[in-house]
Amino acid sequence: LLFGKTRWAGQEIHYFPETDSTNIRAKELGEKGASHGALAVADRQSAGRGRRGRGWESPPGCSIYMSILLRPSFLPSSAPMLTLVMAYSTAEALQECTGQEIRIKWPNDIVLNQKKLVGILTEMSSEIDYINHVVIGVGINVNMDSFSEEIAKTATSLRIETGQVMKRSTLIAEIMKHFERNYDTFLQSGDLSGIREDYNRLLVNCGKEVRILGAKEPYQALALGINDSGELLVRKQDGSEEAVYAGEVSVRGI
Ligand code: ATP
Repeated sequence: LLFGKTRWAGQEIHYFPETDSTNIRAKELGEKGASHGALAVADRQSAGRGRRGRGWESPPGCSIYMSILLRPSFLPSSAPMLTLVMAYSTAEALQECTGQEIRIKWPNDIVLNQKKLVGILTEMSSEIDYINHVVIGVGINVNMDSFSEEIAKTATSLRIETGQVMKRSTLIAEIMKHFERNYDTFLQSGDLSGIREDYNRLLVNCGKEVRILGAKEPYQALALGINDSGELLVRKQDGSEEAVYAGEVSVRGI
């Protein structure tokens, strides 16, 4: 699939017709000694997961459910930035493959025409100052033509938006190519400075009012873009600026 396209990202692929969650499979691969960049891919997930115990609808045969295993040598505190590296890489790749205006909703979603197209979930196994491995799961709605009633108003797929059926393997290969390049850029500086401007260009929240949930008091603010650490910079109504950390809050409003 990826022969000659990448050095390590997706070079080792483990395919599962059906599994509970590709993040669990990739974590297992990590424990069994699989190499950096190994990819778990499934046709269907019976227990696909989002953040904070939420679910990810994963019907069979039409979408991408994949998780990449990474063995970074940086500190665990840097790992959350990888969610943004993956979001940016996926958005870039999907934009290139479809010609659509693919946008990032900070920190872990990708949207098309204001609806959710991709969800990303990063999980890590680490000691205080040492990462055993990181797993980044990516769920992409590719060829499905409908969703459950619960998410029908907020979710979309490439097929719904473009009317076209896409080949999943082509998309996976493109995403791996972009991710490998952006990951290497990230390693050079240890932060997001190398992709920050381009990320902000794709950020759907940029220049918009967002509602910050999960802080002590939810509040309304103007989103300005991410900083080099991947925090969302916002301007509050009193004019002061704040950096919002992804682990603590959710934003609403796109
Ligand atoms: P937050 O609002 O805190 O950023 P989130 O809403 O982005 O969280 P995620 O963990 O990214 O949550 O994704 C899980 C949520 O996405 C579910 O609660 C559901 O509303 C929605 N969802 C589930 N499956 C799909 C899917 N296949 N496509 C689009 N949206 C989905």
